[in-house]
Amino acid sequence: MSAAEPGVLTINGGSSSIRFALFAVGGTLQRQLAGKIDRIGLKGTNLVVSDQSGKARATQHITAADHGTAVGFLLDWLDAQPLFASIKAVGHRVVHGMQHTEPERVTRRLLKELHRITPYDPDHLPREIGLIEAFLQRHPKLPQVACFDTSFHRSMPAVARLLPVPRRYAAKGVERYGFHGLSCAYLIEELTRLDPGALNGRVILAHLGSGASLTAVYRGKSIDTSMGFTPAAGLVMSTRSGDIDPGLVYYLARTENMTAPQFQQMVNHESGLLGVSGMSSDLRDLCASEATDVRAAEAVELFCYQARKWIGSYAAALGGLDTLVFAAGIGENSPLIRKRICRDLGFLGIELDRKRNARNADLISADVGRVKVRVIRTDEELMIARSVTRLLDLGWTGNDKP
Ligand code: ADP
Repeated sequence: MSAAEPGVLTINGGSSSIRFALFAVGGTLQRQLAGKIDRIGLKGTNLVVSDQSGKARATQHITAADHGTAVGFLLDWLDAQPLFASIKAVGHRVVHGMQHTEPERVTRRLLKELHRITPYDPDHLPREIGLIEAFLQRHPKLPQVACFDTSFHRSMPAVARLLPVPRRYAAKGVERYGFHGLSCAYLIEELTRLDPGALNGRVILAHLGSGASLTAVYRGKSIDTSMGFTPAAGLVMSTRSGDIDPGLVYYLARTENMTAPQFQQMVNHESGLLGVSGMSSDLRDLCASEATDVRAAEAVELFCYQARKWIGSYAAALGGLDTLVFAAGIGENSPLIRKRICRDLGFLGIELDRKRNARNADLISADVGRVKVRVIRTDEELMIARSVTRLLDLGWTGNDKP
């Protein structure tokens, strides 16, 4: 990055980590470095930084009992980097944005609004607001942009947004929002680049990572998505249950004296692949053990079965299917899981090519299949950087490749 080139910093705060990346904005967006502080609040907290080729540049052990301490450390570290002088703006992933449909410049008013909507996402928003405020305090003149993970799904029709509970709750914002929107927006931009015609058709995006969701896209717009009012809904995930019978709340309250916070803890952190297998939330571990451990085998089968059902259901919602995109940790890296999800979907026109699938090729469908099946490496950080440069008009011409 030359001194003349502006830089954009992206910040993505997770439950026990803060990821960041620095992009130089020329005609292209070039990732200069990426890093994360992980295991916040646990022993062995680390700051790990890698350069543009992905090579580790620095690892530092730190003590950070909470996000506040971690962000203070990150700000000190960033301030000490010569590259920091080039940063013209910071883009934040904000998981919940209620009705916000576009990335927005952070103002006092927006911050007030984010504080107001915190009850809708008490797991993520307080931490994310804390990160924005920490940057604001240290660098009050540095423009910041909030990029909402819900925005992509604001195009969903009312029928997909409605939750079938009494109307009085809908008036208070109780509806389906959907998440993974930054990933979806990125996948759609990449799909347009790879196959400009694809967006005229019917697309399903399968973002399969620790958090997993499927999204039905018609003419480039989300028409339905599997996560809902919270990210715990939809497909079974690493530790989240996905959709479960609402009657379970009362049953467990009666028989186990389970409280609402305990239920929340259970469905978010103790369920999903971890809960069913009783051994691991990581699909790699489960695949390695399924030959000898029946519960691991059932967890893997449940994941593939549910993903297949969501694909079938969204093909119905879309009135057919032209493109299926696999993304995120599982979607990008596991030929076995993709194969098992797509098994028996020949009736929809989904046929995988064994060799292309085995090497995680960009296009993994067989030429005989009607549906194009793709693997696209998603990049939420790059999507944030793109959004910031567009909003603040920093001079990106839109030509970058991931
Ligand atoms: P996050 O939602 O935390 O960003 P990722 O998109 O990084 O998650 O995905 C992480 C998950 O991807 C891990 O839990 C792991 O189960 C899965 N994964 C990564 N590589 C493979 C693989 N080769 N086979 C199966 N699962 C994989």
